[in-house]
Amino acid sequence: MPVLARVKPGDVRRRLPDRPPEQPEPFEAILRDMDDVILPGITHWQSPNFYAFFPGNSSPPGILGDLLSSGLGVQGMLWVSSPACTELEAHMLDWLVHLLDLPKRFLSSGPGGGVIQDTASSASLCALLAARERATGFRSNDEGVGATALTAYTSAQAHSSLEKAAGIAGVGRKNLRLIDVDQQFAMRPEALAAAIAADRRAGRIPFFVCASVGTTASTAIDPVPAIAEICRRENVWLHVDAAHAGSAAVCPELRWIHAGVEHADSYCFNPHKWLLTNFDCDCLYVADRAALIGSLGVLPEYLKNRPTASGDVIDYRDWQIPLGRRFRALKLWCVMRHYGAEGLRAHIRGHVKLAQDLAAWMAADRRFHIAAPVPLNLVCFRHAVGDDATQRLLDALNNSGRAYLTHARLDGKLVIRVAIGGTWTERRHVEALWGLIQEMASF
Ligand code: PLP
Repeated sequence: MPVLARVKPGDVRRRLPDRPPEQPEPFEAILRDMDDVILPGITHWQSPNFYAFFPGNSSPPGILGDLLSSGLGVQGMLWVSSPACTELEAHMLDWLVHLLDLPKRFLSSGPGGGVIQDTASSASLCALLAARERATGFRSNDEGVGATALTAYTSAQAHSSLEKAAGIAGVGRKNLRLIDVDQQFAMRPEALAAAIAADRRAGRIPFFVCASVGTTASTAIDPVPAIAEICRRENVWLHVDAAHAGSAAVCPELRWIHAGVEHADSYCFNPHKWLLTNFDCDCLYVADRAALIGSLGVLPEYLKNRPTASGDVIDYRDWQIPLGRRFRALKLWCVMRHYGAEGLRAHIRGHVKLAQDLAAWMAADRRFHIAAPVPLNLVCFRHAVGDDATQRLLDALNNSGRAYLTHARLDGKLVIRVAIGGTWTERRHVEALWGLIQEMASF
């Protein structure tokens, strides 16, 4: 199968009947169509030759955990609606604090705690909403944000989900300031301080900063300690988005990426990207759960129950946007127990080493420029001849069916991103990719 699907828009739908069947069909017929109709329209995220976007890891224990969740089919909106669903989740999120050596203020035994969200986009939105409520004395949920003049900040390299969140939260996309980055594509703290000061002078209310640990374009790591210092001084909520890179902290030698996170009000990372846990699974941590629950909690009559009234239990519906929720902690439990910390470290270390090696091979070839630092498992490069040559190379690689890579723009120039993080990606695959890149770059 080619890694990138070769179908054209509408090809898959054209092969499906217009209406559902009147009579039951044998499952064999469905599986036949799976092979004939669906698989040609799949871009193979689990191929060892998938280097696009960031990885979306799947693994045998992750699949089995998901299957257990689907089979049980429980709904964990309240503790009482399935106690084990809530308690395993709180426990797994605590395990991850220990596994990644995250700040102890994120443990569920204190005022903070963790919760599984579907994606980092939802996590950042929840953090932004909690920050908005805290900054407005918990009034904006009731009264609307209207003319409150709130302003939020993130770097010009931050993920677009922040822009989306500012819009959804009623803060307004134009009130999200995109702060300048340095030559390594990390946020410039002095530019952040200046933007906050300018907004204060204009009578606005700075309330939220999102720092990125591993930007989408190039895995740039914002200087969180300096950003945290500004947030503390200005009494502004600090959220840290480590969607992809956070998983690297299973390795003690890579924990430097989390410097300063101990001062964050909230933090998220996605085990569904690089920690062998099937999509969807984002872990959001808060230092003060009361701010989150105070922003997202509602209690209609039909959800009232004794354990909730006792205050002794977590009801995760108050920690997320939807009411209902799947038993996603099962896949984390299966993954952590199956691989153990050592297995997870080997997974991360293998990819980081491969990315460093690929970057070194490229640096020694004058046809290519490495376009950004390679702190972890993403190599951004361009063809020395320029954007057109880079685009031709990218198209040739993807059209070959032997790999799938995506692009970004850094310093206004096109770059090809090689994100090495697939569950099944080994040295031989990266060596083959390097051979392919060299072959296709010689036009
Ligand atoms: N933040 C960063 C840094 C990302 O790289 C991504 C996606 O790649 C996201 C957020 C959004 O992730 P999700 O799909 O979980 O919303």
